Amino acid sequence: MGPRFAAEAFNASTTAAARLRVTLYGSLAATGRGHLTDVAVSEPFSPMPVEIVWAPEQSLPRHPNGMKFEALDASGNIVASRIMYSVGGGALLDEDGKPDGGGEVYPYTSMREILEQTEREGLLLWQLADLHEGREIWPYLVGVWVAMKKAIETGLNTEGRLPGSLNVPRKASAYYARAQSMAGHSGETALLFAYALAVSETNASGGEVVTAPTCGACGVLPAVLFFLQRQLQFSDEKICRALATAGMIGNIVKRNASISGAEVGCQGEVGTACAMAGAAAAQLLGGSVRQIEYAAEMGLEHHLGLTCDPIGGYVQIPCIERNAIAAVRAVDCATYALLSDGHHIVSFDEVVRSMWETGCDMKSSYRETAQGGLAKIYLLRKTGANGFPGMGS
Ligand code: SF4
Repeated sequence: MGPRFAAEAFNASTTAAARLRVTLYGSLAATGRGHLTDVAVSEPFSPMPVEIVWAPEQSLPRHPNGMKFEALDASGNIVASRIMYSVGGGALLDEDGKPDGGGEVYPYTSMREILEQTEREGLLLWQLADLHEGREIWPYLVGVWVAMKKAIETGLNTEGRLPGSLNVPRKASAYYARAQSMAGHSGETALLFAYALAVSETNASGGEVVTAPTCGACGVLPAVLFFLQRQLQFSDEKICRALATAGMIGNIVKRNASISGAEVGCQGEVGTACAMAGAAAAQLLGGSVRQIEYAAEMGLEHHLGLTCDPIGGYVQIPCIERNAIAAVRAVDCATYALLSDGHHIVSFDEVVRSMWETGCDMKSSYRETAQGGLAKIYLLRKTGANGFPGMGS
């Protein structure tokens, strides 16, 4: 999403250009083919030819997801150029590290400040969104919810295999069908799995999804909201309020740590998605502000240290299954928090900080470079190298 927005922003500078050159650096290059980044940065310039330069060994100074756009005239002279960074969820930084478009709306720098205001003024979390974002947030969130439901519907109604060399079969449709004949807790879990798989499979095939907080982790929040709406008949209005709260949780993580797998591993993507969905579920189920914060804290805490090691650079394995598991975990976090009085030892702010420090300590091979963990083991198996002969493909 970020690379596409960056390309669209640069497009205005290309009126004198005959062709484009886009250099992808670091993690963006290492997993760019699997993430369809080359397609994302080329499409906005169509039909102008775009040369993609992959530079996985080089990193630009501010973030592992750097990119350089260059517009060239017919003689090959550079007529415009721009460096940008994709920092997760479609957000961009410019060359100087300043947010490119869309400044900070919320005045808070921590969850602690949010909790203090809600308690001081007797407000609910979603009411803070209303206060700072204005009334226009609600029609916007209605659009978000419509897009999320469409992604679920698309995924549930599509069969076959996902694009890419891994040949991964889609599961959402079959899981949904099987869930219909399962009763009780198993049936509910199966439905949650199916909804999350549906969105993540839609993403893996280049379909339209909502970054929540990122494309890789896009299945968790819609699955939880859709599941709860169907089970308990929540109105769209209540769902949108839960979305507003989820957005505030994601925003705190983005502000004080990172939602980029390339920067902090999957704890920042699926971990944050689980925190957002846990908070949204706790709110829908009647939790207090403290219980909502507890659910969010647990959602992130129990993903601490989670690496990003997508096989072949595709957002498929472990990503798709991981979204399904995190959706169930988010509902569990909400249930756990609602059983408590909301008091707990480690705060959400502290777990965010811990996640950031853990991510900083993580070797780059575990941060969206497809060089470590599952990605490496799979490659060894495929090539029969380093003690992995005879394991088949
Ligand atoms: S492993 Fe997690 S962070 Fe990495 S690409 Fe997959 S979903 Fe994103």
